[in-house]
Amino acid sequence: MDKNKYFTISDGLAVFGPEIIQILNKLDAIFVDMSKDFMADNMIFPALMRVEDLSSLDYFNNFPHLGLAVAGLTDEACGCLTSQKEKVTTIRQNNIKNSDYLLPSAACYNVYLHLRNEVVTQAKYYTTAARCFRNESEYKGLERLWSFQMREIICIGSMDEVQAFLSVYKDKVSSLAEQIGIIFDIEVATDPFYDKQGTKALMQKLQPVKEEFVFEGTVSAASLNFHRNFFGEKCNILNNTGAAVFSGCVAFGLERWLHALLKTYGHDLETIHGKLNNV
Ligand code: ATP
Ligand code: ZN
Ligand code: MG
Repeated sequence: MDKNKYFTISDGLAVFGPEIIQILNKLDAIFVDMSKDFMADNMIFPALMRVEDLSSLDYFNNFPHLGLAVAGLTDEACGCLTSQKEKVTTIRQNNIKNSDYLLPSAACYNVYLHLRNEVVTQAKYYTTAARCFRNESEYKGLERLWSFQMREIICIGSMDEVQAFLSVYKDKVSSLAEQIGIIFDIEVATDPFYDKQGTKALMQKLQPVKEEFVFEGTVSAASLNFHRNFFGEKCNILNNTGAAVFSGCVAFGLERWLHALLKTYGHDLETIHGKLNNV
C-alpha cells in the first residue's frame, strides 16, 4: 500500500494497511480492557445470523432496510456460470436460492439469542466484536461504511444492575475520550427496538434509552443502549422470580473512533499511538 495512504475506501468498503491495523487493534484492546472491570465473558459468534432468530427479535419490524441477505447460487445457475464465456459481474436474482441467513448489523443480538430460555440469577456481562454490515442509504468515508467493526459490552440483569452498568460506562467512555483527547457531545437518541406507537414508546420519551457519544456534531462513535426487558421477553431469559430480565449494551464503532483520532490529530499516527499507549 502507498505509504502516504494508510487506508482506502470504495463503495463503503475499507482496506487498512498495517499502520491503521495497529491503531484499530489498540482501540479494541482498550474496549476489551474496559469490559474486564465487570469480568465480562469474551465471545465469538458466527459471521451469519439466522433469519428465524432475527425475526424472533422483531428485527424485520424495526430494521429490514439495514438487512443484507446471504444465499447460495442455484444448481442451475452454477451449471450456466461454469460454461459462460462473458465476464460475470452480477449474480441475477433468479440465480440465487432463498435466503435463511443475514449478515449481522449489530454485535449484541447473538448474546441474547445465546441465553435463550435460560434463568439468570445474577447479572451477566459479555463482550463480543463483529464485523457488521448495514445497507445504509449512502456511505461516507470511515464515518459510514457498508462493513465496519463493532465491539460491544453487554449487561443482562435487573433494571438497576443494567442502569448502573450503563452509568459506569458513560463515565468510562467520557474519561477515555478525555485521556486520548477526543471531544464528544453526549446526545440522547431514539431507541428503535420498540413498537413506535405503543406504551413503551411513550415511556421511552420519559426515560432516555439511547445515548450517543457524538464527534463533530454528526458522527456517533459509541452508543449506550438501554433495552428495558425487550430482549429478555423476546428470548425468554428469566430471573429467579420468573420475570424477563433487563439488558443494556455499550457499542463502539472502531472505524468511527479511528476517524475521530485521525481528524483530531491530522493523521499524525505517532501522536495517536502515544495517546493510546497512555490509556
Ligand atoms: P447512526 O445514527 O450514525 O446511523 P446508529 O444509531 O445507527 O448510528 P448504533 O446502532 O448505535 O448506531 O451502532 C453502534 C455503533 O456502531 C455506532 O455508535 C457507530 O460507532 C457504529 N456504526 C453504526 N453504523 C455505522 C456505519 N454505517 N459505519 C461505521 N460505523 C457505524
Ligand atoms: Zn448492542
Ligand atoms: Mg444507523
